[in-house]
Amino acid sequence: LASRAFKEEGTIVRVGDIAIGGEEIHVMAGPCAVESREQLLEAARLVKEAGATLLRGGAFKPRTSPYSFQGLEEEGLKLLAEAREKTGLKVVTEVMDASTLPMIAEYADILQIGTRNMQNFFLLREVAKVDKPVLLKRGVSATIEEWLMAAEYIMAGGNYNVILCERGIRTYESFTRNTLDLAAIPVVKHLSHLPIIVDPSHAIGKWRFVPPMAAAAVAAGADGLLIEVHPNPAEALCDGPQSLTPTNFQSLMQDLKSVAGVF
Ligand code: PEP
Ligand code: MN
Repeated sequence: LASRAFKEEGTIVRVGDIAIGGEEIHVMAGPCAVESREQLLEAARLVKEAGATLLRGGAFKPRTSPYSFQGLEEEGLKLLAEAREKTGLKVVTEVMDASTLPMIAEYADILQIGTRNMQNFFLLREVAKVDKPVLLKRGVSATIEEWLMAAEYIMAGGNYNVILCERGIRTYESFTRNTLDLAAIPVVKHLSHLPIIVDPSHAIGKWRFVPPMAAAAVAAGADGLLIEVHPNPAEALCDGPQSLTPTNFQSLMQDLKSVAGVF
């Protein structure tokens, strides 16, 4: 179902009046985690002003350490809904397990499956039953084939609105958090009709290198971007080092115009 051989024409995933996989590049931006009302509403206002069309923010966070901030859970989801109401931005947020899926689906416009859950086949089957687009991140050590097979699980379960997200894979390079696999963009476009977006923030892990790789992703044919932006990255409870300041995000969006030329 995910294969280009099965369906030649590129799939457009619609979220309200946003068409992902269409002519325009869409940028999902916002903090790693929803931390407070003030932080989220400020982030939402700023990314909207800079030209993002979707707001990202985790309410349930898959943290490497059990002692790190785990997210505001339902309170975070409520804040995301409030930010959507105030800005008109659509909301993308991560689902970590089946038990919280119904609650998250009430608030989110797009359900994110994180890298750690790409091959959680039970969860993939559950999101397949929900009438919401799914943003499927590439597993940190997944091949492109395995990633497309994960998309296949969701589609086989009846949900055809899958957006793929390249977010870096683990290699021997340790200066960056992961290694952004730019080649995955044209390869996925060749193998599949599904839209693909790129998350340079988690791929690189250091904010300074995010803008050039965002531009490279768009130049390589990505349908959109996912960028972490925090009103004050130094104070972020999660992923501060890779988060852009609002000013840096604004200039990234400016620069993208000359690469993309279409938004
Ligand atoms: C995130 O988007 O904040 C996140 C946890 O991403 P990933 O699953 O790619 O690490
Ligand atoms: Mn993050």
